[in-house]
Amino acid sequence: MLDFNTIINNIHNNLKHNVVKGVVASYIPELSKQDVNSFGIFMQHMDGRTFQAGDAEVPFSIQSISKVLSLSKAIAFEDNNLWTRVDVEPSGNPFNHLSLLELENGIPRNPLINAGAIVVADILCSQFKNPKEDFLQYVRDIANDQTITYNYKVAESERLTGFNNFAAANLLKSFDNLNNDVDVVLDFYFHQCALEMTCAQIAKTFYVFANSGKCINNIPHITVSQAKRINAIMLTCGFYDESGEFAFEVGLPGKSGVGGGIVALLPNHFVLTTWAPGLNAKGNSLLGMQALEQFTTQTNLSVF
Ligand code: GLU
Repeated sequence: MLDFNTIINNIHNNLKHNVVKGVVASYIPELSKQDVNSFGIFMQHMDGRTFQAGDAEVPFSIQSISKVLSLSKAIAFEDNNLWTRVDVEPSGNPFNHLSLLELENGIPRNPLINAGAIVVADILCSQFKNPKEDFLQYVRDIANDQTITYNYKVAESERLTGFNNFAAANLLKSFDNLNNDVDVVLDFYFHQCALEMTCAQIAKTFYVFANSGKCINNIPHITVSQAKRINAIMLTCGFYDESGEFAFEVGLPGKSGVGGGIVALLPNHFVLTTWAPGLNAKGNSLLGMQALEQFTTQTNLSVF
């Protein structure tokens, strides 16, 4: 039997001494305050066991990891227009690239790049009565944790500097692919990205995708087929223009965020979350990618 505790702690101990740790995101000023030496790993096994190392219980800004959560709720609403308004192809471009959006008539390549997540945010703004409150409640429910909350400073910091996202949203609006006002949709989007969670909380939240749509309390939130689709989109689109590299090196569906978090999962087996704020040139956590690669190599546990 694999000794996950030793494996995870050895990986953490070896990598934390790396001199090259990547660069903390600074285009959202509030994120630049993160310590590049923070490093946590948390594993939630489906049999109930948990394993952790380092800063696994320190809250951080989940940023784009939230796009999977908003997508899952939009899918659960069974909005028939979702897949006519956003595609499911890898973009091969950075998360905030706008040129493809114009070439492809305002249909974002996938729901995990910014433009796609903004369309998903628009759907949630239409479907929810009180979008920010109701979305937070959804996340708390699937996490089985009522303490999760937004970091309002991060949301405001992103609003003040979110020129690229305003450009994307305006472009979407000009192509008739946003039903609500740009300001309303982006206010929701900036808050969802500003959700603050620990590695442990993220692992417990993403349990729902590893467990065929049932959360850690065994309550169904999405169907088996919806969970399958979300995992497929994470595998093909979860790491910006490094999604191929992540599948090649790690071999798990997952999602990263510019706060330095990565969540990856093996359906029916486990969810593994890492947090290290230093990013590589493609915007993915440098130590996190290495930790996950070492984990699947040492355990032989991947979808392939
Ligand atoms: N809120 C960030 C943005 O829209 C998310 C980026 C990310 O984590 O990839 O720029």
